[in-house]
Amino acid sequence: MRILVLGADGYLGWPTALHLSAAGHEVGVLDNFARRAYDEELGVESLVPIESFETRIEAWREVSGKTLTPYVGDLTDPEFTTAAVRGFRPDAIVHFAEQRAAPYSMIDQAHAVYTQTNNVVGTLNLLYAIAEVDPDIHLVKLGTMGEYGTPNIDIEEGWLEITHKGRTDRVLYPKKPGSFYHLSKVHDSHNIEFACRIWGLRATDLNQGVVYGQQTEQTDRDPRLATRFDYDAVFGTVLNRFVIQAVLGRPLTVYGDGSQTRGMLEIRDTVECIRLACENPAEPGEFRVFNQMTESFRLEELAKTVAEAFPGDVEIEHLENPRVEQSEHYYNVVHTGLPGLGLRPHLLSNTLIESLFPIVEANSERVQDGALLPSVRWRGALRG
Ligand code: NAD
Repeated sequence: MRILVLGADGYLGWPTALHLSAAGHEVGVLDNFARRAYDEELGVESLVPIESFETRIEAWREVSGKTLTPYVGDLTDPEFTTAAVRGFRPDAIVHFAEQRAAPYSMIDQAHAVYTQTNNVVGTLNLLYAIAEVDPDIHLVKLGTMGEYGTPNIDIEEGWLEITHKGRTDRVLYPKKPGSFYHLSKVHDSHNIEFACRIWGLRATDLNQGVVYGQQTEQTDRDPRLATRFDYDAVFGTVLNRFVIQAVLGRPLTVYGDGSQTRGMLEIRDTVECIRLACENPAEPGEFRVFNQMTESFRLEELAKTVAEAFPGDVEIEHLENPRVEQSEHYYNVVHTGLPGLGLRPHLLSNTLIESLFPIVEANSERVQDGALLPSVRWRGALRG
């Protein structure tokens, strides 16, 4: 298949592009390097150094003999987006290219407006490009489990059958997200469902859990193929952040009482889920939703697992929660769609956690201490 990966310079887009290329697909890679610009703005860097887009692409050609076709530009530019889709003529488009940090979207008004404009307008331009170039192109869009929030009923895969006053209908699952970033994904989901229902496009919305890990079979083949490893309180995902804190001898910072439960998955499962979704497309007109997670953990439990895996003393510290989120809540997620297509998950193990310790040790001099602690607060609305 011909697959265009949007956001291919990012944490997940890059290893996904390599995984698809290794599986024999013709892969195009698109990015506007916004993620590298947020690093400059926030004064932080990936813990593991990453190469330029050109060097990565060239390294993959040397290692695998396979070519990735690059497109550099911004999805909020409609001409660029349509030209890229027309130029590559994909069978499937994997869309990772959004501002993805909840804390970044909550910094102030300017960051909330940027996040929603970037994400919602970029996706809308993409829907128009697909409709114009070829409505048969399968859109595989990254959503997030955070779109659902923590409802007191089971979380179904995108849709809910309800009976109201004796009548029954199938509706999009009601969402109660926890940040302006998560809201941007909810808005995207509605726009994509609309385009499927009205224009007959085909799409898979992958409501992904929190990803951990840093290595895949392909990124391991050469240090120049490494993907990002973020540790800061804005972009670092929770398990990766705990591992870094353990190695540096800092307390693992759990927000609130740590009873919040989140769906999670390993990076090797992310790339495999995307391959499965691309190779098993949605039907024309179908808006298909999968909950892309393999296990749920309470944050407190996750911190204890990292502390136990680390061969030294580790303290766990509870910080006042900078976010506004429920503790001690019900959390039961249906996630049978991807296993039904053949996913065999890598469950969280001490071996995986232990494999991250040497990566952190080798790069520990790059850590900026100040970046580990949360500075963005959910309460109060700041003008930017
Ligand atoms: P990332 O920030 O590392 O990568 C996103 C990439 O998209 C970046 O390289 C960025 O430069 C690019 N981009 C952003 N806006 C763009 C635009 N307008 N035009 C072109 N390129 C643009 O993020 P990630 O962690 O790889 O996440 C990828 C996707 O997966 C996101 O949509 C995110 O919401 C979703 N997701 C991630 C996680 C996680 O734990 N990392 C969890 C759930 C969902």
